[in-house]
Amino acid sequence: MKKILITRKLIKDSEDKASKTFNPIFNTNDELYSQSKVIDMSQGCDGILTSLTDKMDKETISKLPDTIKIISNFAVGFGNIDLNAAKEKGIAVTNTPDVLSDATAEIGILLILGACRRASEGIQSAKDGGWKWSADYLIGKQLTGTRLGVLGMGRIGQKIARIAKSLGMVIHYHNRSKLSEDKENGATYHDNIKSLFSVSDVLSICCPATKETENMINKETVEYFPKGAVITNVARGDIVDDEALIDALNRRKIYAAGLDVYKNEPNLNPGYLKIKSAFILPHLGSATKDTRIAMANLAIDNIDEFFNTGNCVNKVN
Ligand code: NAP
Repeated sequence: MKKILITRKLIKDSEDKASKTFNPIFNTNDELYSQSKVIDMSQGCDGILTSLTDKMDKETISKLPDTIKIISNFAVGFGNIDLNAAKEKGIAVTNTPDVLSDATAEIGILLILGACRRASEGIQSAKDGGWKWSADYLIGKQLTGTRLGVLGMGRIGQKIARIAKSLGMVIHYHNRSKLSEDKENGATYHDNIKSLFSVSDVLSICCPATKETENMINKETVEYFPKGAVITNVARGDIVDDEALIDALNRRKIYAAGLDVYKNEPNLNPGYLKIKSAFILPHLGSATKDTRIAMANLAIDNIDEFFNTGNCVNKVN
């Protein structure tokens, strides 16, 4: 049986499956392993099942034992792994697409609603008590008839677009390539971000974190939006330059932000904590029991498929 290091604790059903599939090393206390601990613990292993909290950078990968043939990431995003370094060392990297799209799209919609309808301020007022209903109390932005820009109209972006459309939003999107008409589902394509942002009353960021998308929301691009736009991010923190967004929120160029992901998680930029119109969540995108089990099972199946066939449909490098 193949020996696999599993860096984070999984839900019991998934750990049971792992025990039946290979010889696993579990992290029973769910300790956050340092990079050197991952290197030490992977001695004698054939593969590693990582999560997005494991930084598998070039140096870490170069120090892994030669016996490691696969890094199976427990996430659809793989910005935590240096794909080229893994490829050079002959290590396959896999991810868990599709199974988390519904759950993440739900959080994407929650961010849009929470930011537009001032949920953070509403929750705080309800808890503080003493609030008084009036015709102009905590007035927010209604979604009906509002334009939603989707940056990254992939699996999650398309699901968010479909739900948003049912709420009466008008959908625009940007990808590097235009989608087929059936996938567009009535959305308008923009071949550059300036064009997309200029029609986005609300933006939903759904693209991966890559060198190309790093800080795509920055001091310059934030000015492309209509005044009073809302920016939401369900993808990855690296896509947003926090200082630029916080500044735009403070001067009301941007009306509100809805964020699930951050640079340097869990230490988000403290500027966000001072902004009443920031609706912030602690990276909950895929956090439902069914989805987490499906993700872990797929991460396990990816390893099994790789060792049985020499390849894997979810290989990303
Ligand atoms: P996906 O199906 O691969 O979709 C990504 C989309 O982004 C594609 O339509 C792609 O189109 C577009 N894209 C890629 N690079 C781009 C660029 N440089 N400029 C503009 N568009 C670009 O991925 P997914 O499954 O929807 O997941 C998207 C991301 O969500 C993941 O990478 C992950 O980081 C994040 N995520 C977050 C959570 C959470 O817990 N909050 C959970 C799951 C996923 P083109 O290739 O045509 O450009």
